Amino acid sequence: MSKLERTRFATPEEIAVRAGEQQAPFLRLPDAAHEFAQRQARLQALAARHPIGEYLLFVAAIARAQQQAIDALPPLDVPEASSLRANIEASGRPLPAVGWPRAPQWRDALRAILTTLVPNLDSAAGESVRRLADQSDAFFEAQADRLLGGITLGLDLGAAPLIGAALQVHWVRLVAGAAACFGSSTFERRAPESLCPCCGTRPTASVVRIGGVEAGYRYLHCALCSTQWHLVRIKCSHCLSTKGIHYEALDRADAARDRSEVVRERAPVTAVRAECCDQCGHYLKILSMEKDPDIDPVADDLATVALDLLLAESGRTSAGVNMMLLYGDPGDG
Ligand SMILES: [Zn+2]
Ligand SMILES: [Zn+2]
Repeated sequence: MSKLERTRFATPEEIAVRAGEQQAPFLRLPDAAHEFAQRQARLQALAARHPIGEYLLFVAAIARAQQQAIDALPPLDVPEASSLRANIEASGRPLPAVGWPRAPQWRDALRAILTTLVPNLDSAAGESVRRLADQSDAFFEAQADRLLGGITLGLDLGAAPLIGAALQVHWVRLVAGAAACFGSSTFERRAPESLCPCCGTRPTASVVRIGGVEAGYRYLHCALCSTQWHLVRIKCSHCLSTKGIHYEALDRADAARDRSEVVRERAPVTAVRAECCDQCGHYLKILSMEKDPDIDPVADDLATVALDLLLAESGRTSAGVNMMLLYGDPGDG
């Protein structure tokens, strides 16, 4: 591999600050009315002629069921302002993924998703979803604890995308509901910047946006609540180092010949690249809306899993998490 180019250019954020222009908002809160419908559309578009097209269509069916659950479920009980304050005191986040009682309403989302999915899947996949629907509340709660706590030991990897889908629906509704009740100022910049300021979960990927004051700004996309928060570009989303950052991407010509290789890029020619950090060995994908305005962090992360496999071979670790594709630890047996 060629030696990394060390030239350091000013980011659009730095240029804007110098020019005294209006700053882009720090947070983009989830849009509960459209979040999962947009993901479904993107997954369906990506699935055509894709090596894992069948799996992308399965996740598209989950996204459709997620959106239907949001549309059909009764309004969520938004926690009191006092519990949000207590959560911030205890964990630094107003609606943390772990460390406070999870309202049983998330299981209503799960049951709604499973009920929608069964008739829309072929017999084998439909049967496994049906079997999951027969599990006890205690099983669902134990699986949710492991999933949200990042514990792969004892995690049912087959059930995880469906449990994760229901938890996503619940947290998107929680964040949107709390913002509607108490104002978006409930959610503000909180350290560390590597974790979602609303729920404390890791990002799935990051997005460089287009349009208005957000043009050129990079946002990390929360794997659980879909909140997007601003992090300056050319900065590791794991250890927050600004040194030793470089970008890698799949060589599209090689990928077309089914001989994928990772190439180091000096200029973004593809919509999805990996922002790699030499300080800590982690990477997070960075998606360019300028290259493709329809990108979706969850969908495009799944569709570029070949990049993850190649980076893993070179000893790199993902700083991101995608609830729709979780891996067990090698030592779990
Ligand atoms: Zn979040
Ligand atoms: Zn790092």
